[in-house]
Amino acid sequence: MNEQRNHTTPQDKAVTVIGLGPMGRAMTRTLLAAGHPVTVWNRTAGRADGVVAEGATLAATPRAAVEASDLVVLSLTDYRAMYDILDGATASLAGRTLVNLSSDTPDRSREAAAWAAGHGAGFLTGGAMVPAPMVGTEASYVYYSGPDKVMENHRAALTLLGTPKYLGEDPGLAQMMYQAQLAVFLTTLSALMHATAMLGTAGMTAAEALPELLAAADSIGDIMRAGEESPGTALDAGEHPGDLSTVTMMGATSDHIVETSTALGLDLALPLAVQAHYRGAIENGHGGDNWTRIIDSIRGPR
Ligand code: NDP
Repeated sequence: MNEQRNHTTPQDKAVTVIGLGPMGRAMTRTLLAAGHPVTVWNRTAGRADGVVAEGATLAATPRAAVEASDLVVLSLTDYRAMYDILDGATASLAGRTLVNLSSDTPDRSREAAAWAAGHGAGFLTGGAMVPAPMVGTEASYVYYSGPDKVMENHRAALTLLGTPKYLGEDPGLAQMMYQAQLAVFLTTLSALMHATAMLGTAGMTAAEALPELLAAADSIGDIMRAGEESPGTALDAGEHPGDLSTVTMMGATSDHIVETSTALGLDLALPLAVQAHYRGAIENGHGGDNWTRIIDSIRGPR
């Protein structure tokens, strides 16, 4: 594809980063440190000051940013922002690769891949799984999906940001994985804040409460792995043996959390959602099953 382009060939290894929130800035720094020439563009130009001082080049327009590199990494709040930025630069997209590491829905990622293809550009969807300070460290990993060939062409530069976990050709899949991971993350964070607020009504500070609560959060992986070589095997087989804990027992506790939270005047959205999962399973006659049966309440009628 690159041979078909008729504008200036960008420098070898050049990367463009569009979007300079904490993640875009961290990615820019990581790429610069590895010797890549990096061109950046951000709606609020002042956010580029730090990375420009470290060696990045600030492009005057999105079009100039795109034309500076074959590989264009986008780190934005959502996909709407990508169109807002690139709609005036579509004539320069042919032959380049867009790697969009922004959160959105799987369907919008698929639409964006088709949009990019319509302009002659390759497209990878990415979901970065670490916070900004960890970008480029050993612990960093990023889910990708899209054409295998596009992934391989840019694997070396993308590996600098974090270990790539390639999920396949469907551009929606990496986005779905990102949303699935963030569903765990955001729900757990809300649960931690709910519990902290609850203990706060008894005069316990967050500094006292959180170490206790984090120990419980940390143990969830171990609990899920206990008794199963691979967590999810029984669930996949449609088995929910209630020999150690049951929907009825957990459902009763979910009632108690709602009652406690009500008495304390706390927000009830989270406890009521959890309670509904257990009530659904009990109403469907599965009170004696393992708590994993609540997945049917969540799947809904199919
Ligand atoms: P921010 O949300 O702080 O910044 C987002 C960027 O999007 C900014 O550059 C902002 O420009 C730009 N932007 C938003 N809307 C528009 C628009 N309509 N037109 C032009 N530019 C726009 O970014 P983060 O770095 O925190 O996050 C970026 C992505 O990475 C998100 O999708 C997030 O889910 C994901 N992520 C974030 C992590 C984190 O720890 N922060 C961890 C893992 C993934 P401006 O500066 O002008 O406002």
